[in-house]
Amino acid sequence: MDARAEAVRALPPIDECLRAAQANPALAGFSRIYLKLMVQRAQAELRAAILSGRDAIRRDRAAMIAAVARAVARAVAADEPRLRPVVNATGVVLHTNLGRAILAESAIEAVEMAARSAVNLEYDLETGARGDRDTIVEDEICALTGAEAATVVNNNAAAVVLALNSLAEGREVIVSRGEMIEIGGSFRLPDVMAKSGAIIREVGTTNRTHPGDYADAIGPETALLLKVHPSNYRVVGFTSEVALEELVEIGRARGIDVMEDLGSGAIVDLTEFGIPREPLVRERIAAGAAIVTFSGDKLLGGPQAGVIAGQRGPIERIKRNPLKRALRCDKLTLAALAATLRLYLRSGDLGEELPTIRLLGRRASEIGAIAPRAREIVAERLAGEYVVEIVDAASQVGSGAMPVEELKSVALRVSHPEKSANAIAAMFRRARIIGRVVDDSFHLDLRTVEDPAVFAVKLEAD
Ligand SMILES: *Cc1c(COP(=O)(O)O)cnc(C)c1O
Repeated sequence: MDARAEAVRALPPIDECLRAAQANPALAGFSRIYLKLMVQRAQAELRAAILSGRDAIRRDRAAMIAAVARAVARAVAADEPRLRPVVNATGVVLHTNLGRAILAESAIEAVEMAARSAVNLEYDLETGARGDRDTIVEDEICALTGAEAATVVNNNAAAVVLALNSLAEGREVIVSRGEMIEIGGSFRLPDVMAKSGAIIREVGTTNRTHPGDYADAIGPETALLLKVHPSNYRVVGFTSEVALEELVEIGRARGIDVMEDLGSGAIVDLTEFGIPREPLVRERIAAGAAIVTFSGDKLLGGPQAGVIAGQRGPIERIKRNPLKRALRCDKLTLAALAATLRLYLRSGDLGEELPTIRLLGRRASEIGAIAPRAREIVAERLAGEYVVEIVDAASQVGSGAMPVEELKSVALRVSHPEKSANAIAAMFRRARIIGRVVDDSFHLDLRTVEDPAVFAVKLEAD
C-alpha cells in the first residue's frame, strides 16, 4: 500500500486524541463535545495534509496523537465565530453574499431592545388580548406605499411563494416569457411558482409581449396576472412589454387581479439623492396592482424581510394562509423593519441616517476625498513592489436593482509586477477585506468604505 494511505489508516482513534487534548491544561474548561469536534477537524486536516504530502508521515503512534492534540490547541486558540465582520470594498452596496443592507443606528437599537427584553410582539397592550405581529409595521407600510393592507414574511422569495399560493394554488398565473427570470442564489421564477402550487401560463416571447398575449390567455382557470421586475438583467433592442397600467386594465375587464414582484422597490424617489431611478412601490400600488412584493434588505435598507402590500381583500387571504405561520418574521426582524420604516416617515435626513441611501448617494468627489488617506494606509502595509494607485471606478447598487446603471466611484488599484490580481485579492481576503477584480487588476472600491482606517490591518502575502 502507498505509504501515505498507510499513515492515514494508522491515525489513532478520536477518543485517544481527545484524551490527549483534554490533558492539555490550556484546554481545561472546554466542553468534551466541543473538544471532540475540534479533534475531528484536526484529524481531517492532518489526514488531508499527509495525503497531499504537506505533512510528514509519523511512524510512531504517540507522535501522531501529540500532533493532533497540538493542532487542537492551535485551532481552539484561533477559533472565532464563523460569522465575522468584513470590509466591503467591492463597491456593491447591496451585496447579497455580504449580507445586503447595513442597518441604521435606530434599527440596531431596536434590535438590541427586542433581543434584551420581552416585547408586545403579539399582545395588545390596551385589551390584554392576543395581538397580530403585522400591526408592528402595517400602518407604516401602508402610509409609505398607499396600500390598504400589508403583511411581512422572511424574505421576498417567501413573499412571492406565499402570495401565489394564497391567491392561485391549483390555478393559472399568466406571466410574460421575458420575465421568467433567475436571480442569483437559486431564485428561479418558474421553480418558485411551481412550488407555490400555481400553474404557470407563459405568454409572449423573450423580447416582446403584447397586451393581446395576456388577453388571449385569460380563461376560466386564470387566477392572476403576474408582472416581475427583471432585476439583474435587461432586455434591450427590439423589445416591448406591457405596462402595469395596461395589464391592470386587461385584468379589470375580466375580473382578474394583477400581482407584481418588484424585487427591490424604492420607497422614495432616489434621484433626489443622485441615485438612478427605480420604480416606487407607491406608484405600482397607485397603478392598480392588487399585490406588490419587495425585499426589506434591498433599496429599503432594512433587515431581510419580504413585504407584501396591496388591496385589503387579497392581503386578508394571504394572512389567513397557514403557510404564513411558517414564513413569518421574528421579533428582531420586525423591530429593525419598524425602525427603518419610521426613518422614512419622519423629517430627518434619510440620506444621512440610512446607510444604504447614504452609500448609494456618495458622489465620486466625496469618495475621492478619502482616497489619498486610504492609499497611504494601504501602501504603508504593503512591503515590496506593490503599487497602489487611485483610479476611477464604477460601483453598483447590487441585489438586482438597476443592473445596467453604474455609479461613478473611486477605487484603489493594487498591483504587483509578479503577483496576479487573484493572489492579491486572496491576501486582502485573509485580512477580511473584500475587494473586486476588474479587468485583471485588484480594486478596493471606496464607495462602500466610509472610514479609511478599516484598512489599518496586517496584510500577509502567502
Ligand atoms: C431579489 C428579488 C427576489 C428575491 O428576494 P429575496 O428578498 O432575496 O428573497 C425576488 N424577485 C425579484 C424580482 C428580486 O429582485
